[in-house]
Amino acid sequence: MNSNPREGLPSPELDERNQPFVQNAAAGVFVLPVCTDCGAIMAPPVANCTTCLSDAIEWRPSSGTGTVFSFIDYHRAWVKEFESLIPYNVSIIEFDEGPRMISNVLTDGSQPVEIGARVRVAFETRGEGRAVPVFVLDNGPASEDN
Ligand SMILES: [Zn+2]
Repeated sequence: MNSNPREGLPSPELDERNQPFVQNAAAGVFVLPVCTDCGAIMAPPVANCTTCLSDAIEWRPSSGTGTVFSFIDYHRAWVKEFESLIPYNVSIIEFDEGPRMISNVLTDGSQPVEIGARVRVAFETRGEGRAVPVFVLDNGPASEDN
């Protein structure tokens, strides 16, 4: 039997605050909350702007690209469903737009996850068809054609 160790990972529970994020992710669109009063871009979902406290929050598509700000490899599963993944990567992603988010960088092991590595969002479909943003190393377009 060859089971997928990522099968059975938890999926986000919908609430009033994260619903736009989760619904856009299911459609393959990565969005971040933007304050329409002061222009601050935030992550994760918030009810009020973390800069000016306005509640004028609009969800806008993000590039979904950024760099690894910091990371660690977990050798203990703090959530039972993640036991099959040990050791697994937990990274702080700093988006090109500025805010930071905690997620995973998934690799095939051929390249290490490093601070400053370029990453881009990918979506992992979990239970109830909900998509969770994860990240993959982004080495950009191939620089050699020969
Ligand atoms: Zn604001």
